[in-house]
Amino acid sequence: MSSTPFRTISSLALPFFRPDDLEKLYRAAQRFNIEKIRFTPGGQLSVSGVDDEAMVGLTASLKQFMQPLPENTIAAVSPCPGSGACKHGRRDTAAIAEKIQSLDVQLPLPAKVKIGIAGCRRCCTMPRLRDIGLVPAARGFNLYFGGNGGASPRISDCIGEHLGSDEIVDYIRASLAIYREHARPGMRTSRYIEQIGIADFREKLQKRLFP
Ligand code: SF4
Repeated sequence: MSSTPFRTISSLALPFFRPDDLEKLYRAAQRFNIEKIRFTPGGQLSVSGVDDEAMVGLTASLKQFMQPLPENTIAAVSPCPGSGACKHGRRDTAAIAEKIQSLDVQLPLPAKVKIGIAGCRRCCTMPRLRDIGLVPAARGFNLYFGGNGGASPRISDCIGEHLGSDEIVDYIRASLAIYREHARPGMRTSRYIEQIGIADFREKLQKRLFP
């Protein structure tokens, strides 16, 4: 049997699902005859085998898991399981994700910003292909800026090395403030860095962090 196309129904409110959450998802899948389910790398839920009417019902029944797709803000903070949950993990990725999520950022940003956090250099969350990425270093994390995947991928540039959690927050806050002040509306970080060059951005960042 050939599959019908996948349709993305919304963002997911939870970075992880507990067994009882999955049970609710399973029941909804049965009720609306979903053919297949996939979780996208961006944290969205995609389903196949549903028509327009079923999509409406399915979205309503999964409302507790959904949140509107955020725009012009930090749209996703995606940590891998990290230490304690993955045998390769060297850092507590959940703790740093929580700290970033509570970051006060002046809005709106020129476009959405995705953040990937890895617990080791295997980089399962693809932090170098995100607007902001964190990868464990010998001490703390190295911080990367200006990456994206998609049709015009760009590997991000390192803008800070061996950073502790407080420094990470300071660097991200300053980076996003520069991006907000200088990028055109709708411009992702990758295109902005391509336009001004990473050397210029690093200089701006240093001046803002250490005036
Ligand atoms: S990046 Fe490393 S710590 Fe994180 S899930 Fe992958 S292997 Fe595990």
